[in-house]
Amino acid sequence: MAQQISDRRDQDYVLHEMLDVSQLTNTEKYADFNKKTIDMVLTEARNLAVKEILPTQKSGDDEGVKLENGKVSVPPSFHRPYELFCAGEWVAMADDPEVGGQGLPHSVALACGELFTGANCAFMMYPGLTHGCGNIIATLGTPKQKELYLKKVYTGEWGGTMCLTEANAGSDVGALESIATPNADGTYNIVGNKIFISGGDSDMVDNVIHPVLARIEGAPAGTRGISLFIVPKLWVNDDGSIGEDNDVVITGVEHKMGIHGNATCSIAFGGKGKCKGTLIGEVNKGMKAMFLMMNEARQGVAMQGIGFATTSYINAVNYAKERLQGPNLMQMLEADPPKVAIINHPDVRRNLLIMKTYVDGMRAMLYFMGFCFDKVHTAKDDAEKDYYNGLIEIMTPVAKAYCTDKGFEVTSIGIQVYGGYGFIEEYPQAQLMRDCKITAIYEGTNGIQAMDLLGRKLGMKKGKPMMDLMGEINKAIAMGKEAGLNDLADKVAAALGKLGECAMTLGGAAMSEKVLDAFGSATLFQECCGDVVMAWMHLWRAAVAKGKIEGAKKKDKAFYEAQVIGAEFFISHMLPVSLGKMDSVKALTNSIMAMPVDGFSA
Ligand SMILES: Cc1cc2nc3c(=O)[nH]c(=O)nc-3n(C[C@H](O)[C@H](O)[C@H](O)COP(=O)(O)OP(=O)(O)OC[C@H]3O[C@@H](n4cnc5c(N)ncnc54)[C@H](O)[C@@H]3O)c2cc1C
Repeated sequence: MAQQISDRRDQDYVLHEMLDVSQLTNTEKYADFNKKTIDMVLTEARNLAVKEILPTQKSGDDEGVKLENGKVSVPPSFHRPYELFCAGEWVAMADDPEVGGQGLPHSVALACGELFTGANCAFMMYPGLTHGCGNIIATLGTPKQKELYLKKVYTGEWGGTMCLTEANAGSDVGALESIATPNADGTYNIVGNKIFISGGDSDMVDNVIHPVLARIEGAPAGTRGISLFIVPKLWVNDDGSIGEDNDVVITGVEHKMGIHGNATCSIAFGGKGKCKGTLIGEVNKGMKAMFLMMNEARQGVAMQGIGFATTSYINAVNYAKERLQGPNLMQMLEADPPKVAIINHPDVRRNLLIMKTYVDGMRAMLYFMGFCFDKVHTAKDDAEKDYYNGLIEIMTPVAKAYCTDKGFEVTSIGIQVYGGYGFIEEYPQAQLMRDCKITAIYEGTNGIQAMDLLGRKLGMKKGKPMMDLMGEINKAIAMGKEAGLNDLADKVAAALGKLGECAMTLGGAAMSEKVLDAFGSATLFQECCGDVVMAWMHLWRAAVAKGKIEGAKKKDKAFYEAQVIGAEFFISHMLPVSLGKMDSVKALTNSIMAMPVDGFSA
């Protein structure tokens, strides 16, 4: 069976019928686009993803990366799609054309990204991290740094990474030990060992540009003393030509559970004392620089979770339509009942519906966040900008954690739908689950996201972003009522009210002597926030679809009806589980911290 990826009809539904992204083309920033060009871009992205990237998913997993004589080779099958990817200007989809980008709205770029990551995430991480590196240079670089690096990076001619992690500095980035020593010419000597660096090197590019976090000699301990440096693998001369080797050595590549096609590298900077870098951003403000990039990077990882989930879901649906096994329950007692496709069995269909509602809800959540970025970029005043920035801030940890945790859950159900074949590596489902797991760990583990939500985001600007988020959800509740979906709208309203109570309980406890108990419940609270956001998205989907069912052509009719049925399933059958979880959050258990360390094992 030919493998497929994300459901184009549903992508169009979210972009055009829910968000109406074409409205952005009335703004100066996106005046060069219209609905037709947006659709063409998506079609092109899909073609590239299906024809060129998807076929490398399994070969990349089987072949893995190699490190020989200090040089990393990626799976050979990656070379051709990488060339095509760069030639099509996909590395910097949403960035300015002058620096090699396509200037697309962020929401549309995310839709393309879903296709690419769904086709092969390990491959996509090379251009993805390269873009992240370019984003740092575009936002914080000096004119000279931009001149030297930006175009080469945004066109994918040179690769890019993010170098934070060290052996003793993972979640606790402030513990890092890499050192930068100023030179007389304004550069810095860099000495340090980084580990787990994705896309740390590759033979698809001529040079790799590493943004490296390090401490300038004598700077304060912890995060307050960290600065960010641009450290090229090969030095870049003043005229932009590639100079000498910059003493950046790949000391190892990890053998991992998944994403085998991506080179997770250990890198020694300055082992011979000859590694140079230039400061980017302000001295001791490296963490602030990283925070600037974080929302977009975390959104990118959320998108990876969705990419895995959508591919696993589409595979599962196609498989369930073809795999014949057992009779229809209604014909069980007949003498020789015909075998039916497993999609006809209620339990299989239930699994598929769980997958579908997660996938559709998460897609809408993420594209909405992309749309918030677009609103920031086209805001008519500061108040509008602040409003959408606030929504991005509060939704980012929720989206990162929810889409990656639920993405993993979806890929696990995707194995279940295949039965034993799901567990066999010849079929695609097992790899998707293996590959997906890392998304819950990197770019800030999901536990760290929960702490960010409770510790920073909930009380941010006196709770305004949270209140604004609730205001957005209330808009969909009103839409639902207008569309005659009163029962669903009431259920979402009740869940939202209860979530508000959880926020009050937890927010209050976090500022009291019960602070540790509050943080003990932070992950559960985060999950409840995600559940309510999903319910919001499904109500929105159903409200838009409801009025379109009557008079629609057969295929559209089925699609619109599916929106209403999907919303009913999620809101009436999945959301109640979340209400129970909210009871647990409100009860604020002290068992978590009461359990003594010695009580965990004898
Ligand atoms: C395949 C792969 C690719 C990666 N790519 C990159 C990359 O490109 N660049 C880069 O810089 N790094 C990268 N990383 C590193 C990744 O970001 C870290 O692994 C991650 O941040 C966690 O750090 P750690 O592994 O040291 O775990 P730890 O920080 O030791 O965490 C262990 C556990 O403790 C929890 N924990 C830790 N501290 C706290 C706390 N204060 N409160 C509550 N819970 C806590 C964590 O949630 C986790 O569950 C990558 C890792 C892998 C495996």
